[in-house]
Amino acid sequence: MSAQSPILARRPSQPKPSGWRNELRQAFRDPAALLAALKLDPEALGWEPGARFPMLVPRAFAARMAPGRPDDPLLRQVLPVGAERLAVEGFVSDPVGDGDSRAGRGLLHKYAGRVLLITTGACAVHCRYCFRQEFPYASEQGAAERWRTALDYIARRDDIEEVILSGGDPLMLDTARLAELSDGLARIGHLRRLRIHTRLPVVLPSRVTAQLCAWLAGLPWPVVVVIHANHAAEFDPNVDQALAMMRAAGAHLLNQSVLLAGVNDSAERLNALMQRSLAAGVLPYYLHLLDRVSGAARFEVSEPLALELHEQLRRELSGYLVPRLVREQAGADYKLPVL
Ligand SMILES: *Cc1c(COP(=O)(O)O)cnc(C)c1O
Ligand code: SF4
Repeated sequence: MSAQSPILARRPSQPKPSGWRNELRQAFRDPAALLAALKLDPEALGWEPGARFPMLVPRAFAARMAPGRPDDPLLRQVLPVGAERLAVEGFVSDPVGDGDSRAGRGLLHKYAGRVLLITTGACAVHCRYCFRQEFPYASEQGAAERWRTALDYIARRDDIEEVILSGGDPLMLDTARLAELSDGLARIGHLRRLRIHTRLPVVLPSRVTAQLCAWLAGLPWPVVVVIHANHAAEFDPNVDQALAMMRAAGAHLLNQSVLLAGVNDSAERLNALMQRSLAAGVLPYYLHLLDRVSGAARFEVSEPLALELHEQLRRELSGYLVPRLVREQAGADYKLPVL
């Protein structure tokens, strides 16, 4: 590593211990406290203590939930319920077969030309339908060493053109750590694109700081940021501002959603989500069928209904506002279109 590296010279200075980290410390971790804040009765919601995947909800996200509404679509995505502990046939711990595609610890090389780098196991929100909740993150820790192994693998494979920073959520890392990682990637000549999969601009928009955007703007590749929002109500003026800052830094913004019963399983809600995303400068990318991970059965939408909703979107919306309806299948070469 040379001290004259232009990328090093662009590295942002140490972050001040403020803002988003503090907000994260104050996130709701106790379902009873979240429900009390929303003026809801825990018993009516089927909540039970002791979820395997603990609750985590930033206050900025909770603030967009409607008080007194047990069926709030944002609440439903994050509230642990007793039913999660029931075994349901077909719902398993590694539904997408990631356990089999580890090219090195924390690196998934499943599809041609691109690799997915698990930068951290941490997220700012715990989504109850997430297939990564069962991923053995403990063994994925040990960051510096792990990244070196991943970078070595990418450097050896000149067919890899794109690195996808994923997790967990890569923006849970401090900007200085992200800059270390991108410096390492910038030394690999065959990379052409960088992609970032993150839910933070939506659930903790204060993470999108001027410093983060300076880092984004200085990256030597086209950058695609794929956010994750499932319902129009996940957007608010703070989210809009965070997204506008990332666009101003040159990032292309896309959204991927999961089709979730009780959250967005109507043409009306999906239509509203696509329109609201566009208003925030974000085009739709994927609409995923649920990965059948243990505990998530209450979110499943049948395939015939998914197809019907997708067809309805095609009828109602401009082509570019219609997300690709896909399903992840272990062993497949790409995310399979649902037909
Ligand atoms: C989803 C995914 C990708 C990216 O696939 P795209 O179709 O390019 O969005 C890459 N690697 C893994 C392991 C994935 O799960
Ligand atoms: S933010 Fe993404 S990775 Fe984290 S729990 Fe939610 S869906 Fe899973």
